[in-house]
Amino acid sequence: MSTSMPRASLHTLGCRLSQSETSMLADTLARRGYQLVEFGKETDLLVLNTCSVTENAEKDCRYAVRKTLRHSPHAFVAVTGCYAQTGATQLQKVPGIDLIVGTQFKMNLPDYLPAPAKLRKQPEPELRHSRTIDREDFVLPGTAYSDSTRALLKIQDGCDFMCSFCLIPFARGRERSRTAEDVLREARELAAHGYRELVLTGVNIGRYSYQGLGLVELLRELESVPDVTRIRISSIEPTTVPAALLEHMAGSTKLCHYLHLPLQSGDNTILQAMNRRYAVREYEELVEQALALMPDLGLGTDLMVGFPGEDEQAFANTVMTVERLPFSYFHVFSYSSRPGTAAARLEDQISPAVIRQRSKALSELSRTKALAFYQQQIGHTLPVLFEQGERDGFRTGTTANFTRVAVAADAVEAGSIHQVTITGIMDGLAYGRPVATVSAPSHRPLL
Ligand code: SF4
Repeated sequence: MSTSMPRASLHTLGCRLSQSETSMLADTLARRGYQLVEFGKETDLLVLNTCSVTENAEKDCRYAVRKTLRHSPHAFVAVTGCYAQTGATQLQKVPGIDLIVGTQFKMNLPDYLPAPAKLRKQPEPELRHSRTIDREDFVLPGTAYSDSTRALLKIQDGCDFMCSFCLIPFARGRERSRTAEDVLREARELAAHGYRELVLTGVNIGRYSYQGLGLVELLRELESVPDVTRIRISSIEPTTVPAALLEHMAGSTKLCHYLHLPLQSGDNTILQAMNRRYAVREYEELVEQALALMPDLGLGTDLMVGFPGEDEQAFANTVMTVERLPFSYFHVFSYSSRPGTAAARLEDQISPAVIRQRSKALSELSRTKALAFYQQQIGHTLPVLFEQGERDGFRTGTTANFTRVAVAADAVEAGSIHQVTITGIMDGLAYGRPVATVSAPSHRPLL
């Protein structure tokens, strides 16, 4: 090692939930004396948090290891995350890996590292892995600081839903919830460090359940933390959103009017084959209920194209459904067969060329919907939480319904909330004029 303080670089290949876990591992390593360095910079330790959802998991992982060893040939490489759980055997063959840690032991990864002075490459990787994963409610060892004014707060893990295309229940195990005390402990710490918005994350957060507390009760507790200004729910399964949650959201001054409800397909036959738990009409009714209570709602969704059996009519049904609903954006995913899932055994796989074409059509539609949503905001005055960093003289931030807004950088500070009148739209951004300060930044340094 070149410095007295060992350097650690952490990199996430997965979703938001994985990002929050990486941040928490970074916090633990920093408290144990590591100096955190950006991924891509010279380091003594690489922690790679992998994903198994895409078919490129192994390739991405190989690339990140190779890239690191090129500039830091002696770096100790530890790999964890979903692919370390589902692809441990394949990872053992990837050159340069020293430690593989499956889901069960992920948050204890720092405990399995050699003492900093003894960090060196191993002849072959040590494996910390179990096929079964705990079902117990859990606490987490640290605080997931981020470099944004928003922080991700993990409240739940695992999923029991078994959608036929999804590997997550195998990679992360069954549903379990983080204890409310520990969620509140981290929320207070994040607020004390100046984070203004907490984004609740998990695999299936609508299933949060801890000693009689559901998601709505947990939200009430979080909203009572004095310095927490805003709370946002990340992706939530449509069948786990009760009327009580919508009513609570509509009446809350802290919970953002924003829902990301994965639809996946607008065709009932495909939804059934995906083992999704709703029909299109039920999904639409949920959206109607939400909009009746919150006309300003920001509504996002995930769509999957090319699921086996998705014929022209099924795809047309998806297009019609998403055209009908007032989405402010959608994420489009191309189906790829994941070995071990029920869908991998289905016939009628769709050709990659058709998948590409459908994906392109939906992505274009998403841009059109986003533009329509942004246009509706023109003339409105909305509170905007501003981010760090500026570009071309502008600072950007987000409204509660997740409209991205840019204003002249010298008019606002990072971490502040201002009322902004939206005056126009350009290149996927709303532009506006600050008219009043709602709250100044806390001036506690963000990490
Ligand atoms: S709800 Fe379905 S898609 Fe989401 S994590 Fe669970 S099994 Fe996967």
